[in-house]
Parts: sequence; structure tokens; C-alpha cells
Amino acid sequence: MYKAVCRDKTYKLGDMGGLYHGKILLHWCDSCHTPVLADHCACGENTRAVPVTPPGDARPAFPDDIEFVNQVYEERFGMQIIPDDQIALLNKVPDHDRMEEIIVGGAIVGAIRYLPARKRWEALPRPDAVLIDKPEKRSIIIDDGAFQSVRDGRSLLAPGLISCDCSVREGDEVIMMTQAGDCAGVGRARVDAEEANLMERGQVVKTRKNISSKYTPGKATWDDVIKANEKVLAKAEAASGKFIADNISPYKHLPMSVSYSGGKDSLATLLVVMNTYRKLPILYIDTGLEFSSTEDNVRDVQERYDLECVRIESGDEFWRDFQVNGPPARNNRWCCKTAKLEPLRRHIIEKYGENGELVSFIGQRKYESFSRMKNPRVWRNSYVQNQVCLAPIHTWTALHVWLYIFREKAPFNILYKHGVDRMGCYMCPASDAGVFEKIKTIHPELWQEWEKAVTEWMDNNGVPESWFESGEWKTQGYQSV
Ligand SMILES: [Zn+2]
Repeated sequence: MYKAVCRDKTYKLGDMGGLYHGKILLHWCDSCHTPVLADHCACGENTRAVPVTPPGDARPAFPDDIEFVNQVYEERFGMQIIPDDQIALLNKVPDHDRMEEIIVGGAIVGAIRYLPARKRWEALPRPDAVLIDKPEKRSIIIDDGAFQSVRDGRSLLAPGLISCDCSVREGDEVIMMTQAGDCAGVGRARVDAEEANLMERGQVVKTRKNISSKYTPGKATWDDVIKANEKVLAKAEAASGKFIADNISPYKHLPMSVSYSGGKDSLATLLVVMNTYRKLPILYIDTGLEFSSTEDNVRDVQERYDLECVRIESGDEFWRDFQVNGPPARNNRWCCKTAKLEPLRRHIIEKYGENGELVSFIGQRKYESFSRMKNPRVWRNSYVQNQVCLAPIHTWTALHVWLYIFREKAPFNILYKHGVDRMGCYMCPASDAGVFEKIKTIHPELWQEWEKAVTEWMDNNGVPESWFESGEWKTQGYQSV
């Protein structure tokens, strides 16, 4: 895990590698009760920084996300963590699999984390969660005398315990409350409830260090959020327009298009290119591994903005190479070359000749991940050298992207509303197990197709089933098994 050294400036990132020198852009306006991506809100008030974990690419929690997060908290603590009339955000945290911080009222009220080995989600509340709802399960009542010590991050010892809810098992996340209903802290139980209630000495809960946060509840809608960020969005749009104007000159004579994937970032890129530069065709590569909603979205966008759509079909090339290579993995991503880059390279040559070139506007953003931070904004694809790429929204966070899409009332991929935050190939090995669980629920037929193909391939190649079952296939290509 990373360690935040100094919020807003520099972060030491432990096993995530290196130092992060970016600024956390997410702020909160306590008058409008909205997130604001600047020091000032459009209402005139100063905003305060929200101490999210870097890289800080928070996004809106859609109704399905809210329902899901509340279900996880209901199951573990018998409580709701996201009220239905407040704005909530989710912030993806670097973790072994999927972990998301939950932001409500300008505070991080908790997190959820997927545990691949146990195939379940874990709820990790923060003390502010009890300002929203009181836990009915896995709570521990402590003596007032122990309050400050727990608040300061010290473990709860047996003499400080008044009672432990019978649902608590060793290793569970628990919430420590006073009899008056104040939350002293959260942590992990060291013993089962039965033992805790009988103990006279020793550690009952290992307290998690409290990170100070400020929960200011208040009703707001997404229209209010757009209003609060009016200037932010205008500024971001103008900056992207300036980036295009400053960098396009050497390539002005070349054919151009916006690379469109059906994802939010390519949609925002398309909008900003249309609004600040000009209308261009969209270029869509059908890898044969797309969600049906992606196809729907490409058609919707094309119709809404009356755009030419250049479709590149990679046909069954993925499945042909699959027979030879087996499933792609994070350390063996042959799939991008087969299903995207090679069809694109051939398309450029067929359409513009051997020395032909194409300019592509691409929705790459630095806040997506630490590795993207260092990427340039204008580059040539290393495999498709005749593609010149420009990233107009490189400096935008996911919240800029969403607010811009909402402001423009643009048609976005419906899968985002169902808790999938990553478009592209449905079985991409870069996805985490938590996302695969969602895809299995929404599109069981796609997952069955994948499971069947991989199982057949494993049978033919004498690979043990556990390699797929454990999720190891995603990280370790077959060669390294
Ligand atoms: Zn405001």
C-alpha cells in the first residue's frame, strides 16, 4: 500500500512505486454540497480539499453503484452509507484487486474492497459513516474512558470494552461506539464476540489509524454539481482547445479522426474536439469482444452528432491467435496487437498508402493511473508509427469527464449506470476480479463464452483448471506457469 506523506503535494507510494507529484483536484463546497474541481465554487464560496487517495480520479456514484455499496454495508453492518438525496462519489484506490473510497458530504465515509480469494466484498467504514446511519451489527460499545485512546489510533483493550455485538468474529471490521452513540474509531476484531465479552485483559480490536475528514451533509443534484463547476468546465474545455490549436499545425494536412471506444473518455474527447476544433469522423475498432451496449453507444453517438463512423472490424483474429497463444495476460498482452493495432495499421495503409498517416484524438488521461502520469500528450503509436496521437483531455479527472458529458447531455454507454466503470473488451486481463464479478452478473452469456473457450484451451494444453479459477491467468501468461 502507498503512504500519503503530505496531502495536496507529494505522496510516497510504497509498492506502487515512485513519488506522485500531482495535486489532488477534488474539493467540496459546503454551501452547495457539491464536489468542485477548484479552490472556488461558482457560488463564490471557498472550497475545501477532500483528502482522497491518489491519483484521485473520483467519479459519480450512479444509482446502481449506490444500491450496491449500501448492500455491502447492509450485509456487514446493518447500515446504509450513502443517503439517497446527497451527492456521492467513488474513488478507485490502488490495491491488489478493487478498492473504492466512498465520498459523501465532502468526507471519505468508508471504502469497499473486493477479496478475490473469498469472492466477496468487504466494507471498510470510517468514523464519519455513523453520522449517516447507526450500525446494527458488528459494533462494539466502549467505555468513555477508552474513547480518546481509540480516537488517537490505539488498540481497544479488554478493560475498555462494555459489550461486543454477537455477530463479531475474529478478523471482522468493527465500529467502536460510546454508549451515547459517538464513534471512537474503526478497526479489526482480534477475537470472536464470545471471547471478547469474557476477556479481562488483552487486545480486543486493532484500531485503524483515523484520517481526519469533515462530513457536511446537504442535499444536492447533479445539475447543482454542473452549476458549481461551470467555470471549471469552461476552463478545462478552453485549455483542451488551446492544446489542440497549439499542437495541430504540423499535422493539419493529414486525415483526422477521433478514436471512439464507447467509453466515457473517448466521448468527452469527441465532444471537446467538436466544441473547440471541428467535427471529425469517429474511428471505432470492433475487436469482436465488445459489449452490446458499446455497439449501441457508437450508433447513438454517430446519429446524435451526425458523424461519419469509420469501422474497423478485426473479425475472428483474436480467437485465431487465442488458439496459439492462450488467454492474454497482463504480462502477455498480445491481444491489443491482434485485435486493435494490426487491424488499424492495415486500415491506414489500405486507405492512405504505405507512407500514409492519420491523426487520432485519443481519450487518454493522466489521472487514470500512475503509469499514465508520465505519458506524453502528443505521440506516435509505437506499433502503428503512421498514427499520430493527441490527447486533448490528458489533464482531466474522471469527474471533469462526467460533468462535461452531463453538461452536454451526451449519450453515454449504459453499462456505466450498472456499475461497470471500464469499457473495452469484456475479458480484458487488465480488469480486476471485482469488475469481472459485475460483468458475470450483467452479461453471464459473455462470461460463459470466455470460460468455455479458456477451459477448452486448458484441456488441449494440459493446463490445470486452478490456473483459471484462481484468476492467475490474468497476471501470469501461460508461458510463465
Ligand atoms: Zn458553492
